[in-house]
Amino acid sequence: PVPVVAVVGRPNVGKSTLVNRIIGRRQAVVEDVPGVTRDRVPYDAQWSGRQFTVVDTGGWEPDARDRAAAIAAQAEIAVATADVVLFVVDAVVGATDVDEAAVRMLRRSAKPVILIANKVDNAATEIEATSLWSLGLGEPFPISALHGRGAGDLLDAILDAL
Ligand code: GDP
Ligand code: MG
Repeated sequence: PVPVVAVVGRPNVGKSTLVNRIIGRRQAVVEDVPGVTRDRVPYDAQWSGRQFTVVDTGGWEPDARDRAAAIAAQAEIAVATADVVLFVVDAVVGATDVDEAAVRMLRRSAKPVILIANKVDNAATEIEATSLWSLGLGEPFPISALHGRGAGDLLDAILDAL
């Protein structure tokens, strides 16, 4: 079977932008408005001759209600059915309470997690990414999903984790 990589995180951290970067085409919907991706959306990806499925999800939030609860539930199903999880955090904003709640959800899942420090568009922002060590998920992986900075190294790390 083709291995599955789920991309999760709170709204607007750049999950869909990262999915497009991984698959090498603009297929996942990127929006400034949170809540655009509602379901789990799988895409075919390949890197270094290996194939995998990358699953985009909507923004995860704790104690969500109504529509947001359905989105969060879908994200949790994506985690439960993944081989590896990419947990995306906005390095410019830093770790929020919602990020910390997501870490607790991910711990309960016991899945392997790669911590992505997104929006590291330049060397200066890398300093801010180091603060994400506080999430307790090990070394943050600094990338710019928008500009591609660090994307090759991340894809290598994903294959190593599969
Ligand atoms: P999602 O809600 O987590 O799927 O986030 P999106 O992928 O839709 O992105 C939300 C916003 O963040 C959009 O305006 C993106 O262009 C922007 N964004 C995503 N990745 C980056 C990045 O690496 N750097 C910067 N500066 N902006 C980004
Ligand atoms: Mg999205």
